[in-house]
Amino acid sequence: MRPQEIIATKRDGKALADDQIAAFIDGVCDGTWADYQIAALMMAMFIQGLNRREQYSITAAMLRSGTIMDFSDIDAPKADKHSTGGVGDKTSLIIAPLAAACGVAVPMISGRGLGHTGGTLDKLESIPGFDVNLSFSAFKKVLKKCGFALAGQTKQIAPADKKLYALRDATATVPYIPLIVASIMSKKLAEGLDVLILDVKTGSGAFIQKYAESVKLAKALCETGKTFSVTTQALITDMSQPLGKYVGNALEVYECLKILRGEHDETMQPTLELSVELTALMLVQCKIANSSHNAKLRIKNALESGAALDRFRQNIELQGGDPKICDKPEMLLSKGLTEVVITSEMGGYVAEIDTLAIGRAICDIGGGRVKAEDGVDPAVGYACMKKIGDRVQKGEELGVAYCRRKNQAASVSEKLRNAYKISKEIPRTTNLIRAVV
Ligand code: URA
Repeated sequence: MRPQEIIATKRDGKALADDQIAAFIDGVCDGTWADYQIAALMMAMFIQGLNRREQYSITAAMLRSGTIMDFSDIDAPKADKHSTGGVGDKTSLIIAPLAAACGVAVPMISGRGLGHTGGTLDKLESIPGFDVNLSFSAFKKVLKKCGFALAGQTKQIAPADKKLYALRDATATVPYIPLIVASIMSKKLAEGLDVLILDVKTGSGAFIQKYAESVKLAKALCETGKTFSVTTQALITDMSQPLGKYVGNALEVYECLKILRGEHDETMQPTLELSVELTALMLVQCKIANSSHNAKLRIKNALESGAALDRFRQNIELQGGDPKICDKPEMLLSKGLTEVVITSEMGGYVAEIDTLAIGRAICDIGGGRVKAEDGVDPAVGYACMKKIGDRVQKGEELGVAYCRRKNQAASVSEKLRNAYKISKEIPRTTNLIRAVV
């Protein structure tokens, strides 16, 4: 089957047959399709659309481009949580040990941050010695021993997605729901799961900002999961402000440890709340709890008894990291950074936060990467002290940026201050959990 014919079929608005889609994905993986042909078909799909069968077919072909992990020798239900990404979104580091302490096996394959959004792998690498590059057998060993394992995508997991995502990114064809679904689900379904819980973000820091589009994406992801016999449920959650207190890799791990230790302050409360909601959904769907109420009782016990923190400590040790950070989270905080206090220029209420601008500002001081091959500075970041609806006085602290160099202070300060809209009227606030899909 010649690539030109397959491209022409979609260019002319016709549905692709399953064997055409399979030939395309084979060609992506074996290099017989040139980048310009792949990009042309992606653009044709973006413009002409894919029907449900085509979306299923492309997801299946991408999934089969790699291996599906087999954890059938582990008795516990296998479940994972996937977030569409945001600013300060660090719940994976709480959910994985928490769910493991409640009896779930969590094989969590995660990604790196790109642009304004963070990535779990970068956060983990801020733990001295922590290894995210595990072979399948090492990954499985860790999973069996402590109930969860955290690692990066290997060449065996949906290899077609890596190539397709890079070309979509370079050709402005990322924001199309069927392609997003195929990309996310081909990776998540490779984890051999019984249950998948999705956290689909909405708001100014989300990858898809409009609420109606977030709902559409959540529905499409859930439908696809079910088609592949994986129980899938989603929460639509607010990303109109950073989640919790900190943005920045080491700072976010610090926040998670404070929560697991029960030492969190008020600004960290939303991180705990969202982690509990997502874990509770997981426990119910895994049939470990028969109601959300019972799930939350188990979660409370796992947190208060220290069982979740113990799981995290065990995991860090197994993955080569320094477990002492669990006892002394302050070890994660770097000395010698320049602290830049961001203050409000007027009195009133925080009405809006441009979360994308906050994510970009932290990326610009080295906390994130602009290109996939860039490095990250784990120490830098932002403490977001005031949230939407909070009252502020003129000159009062909105947050604190932690920079590596003094000469970054003026520019980061301006970008962060401009991210806040202060109004005289009390603004409308939104719930953290917007909907269950
Ligand atoms: N995240 C993914 O993994 N893939 C997409 O296409 C978009 C977000």
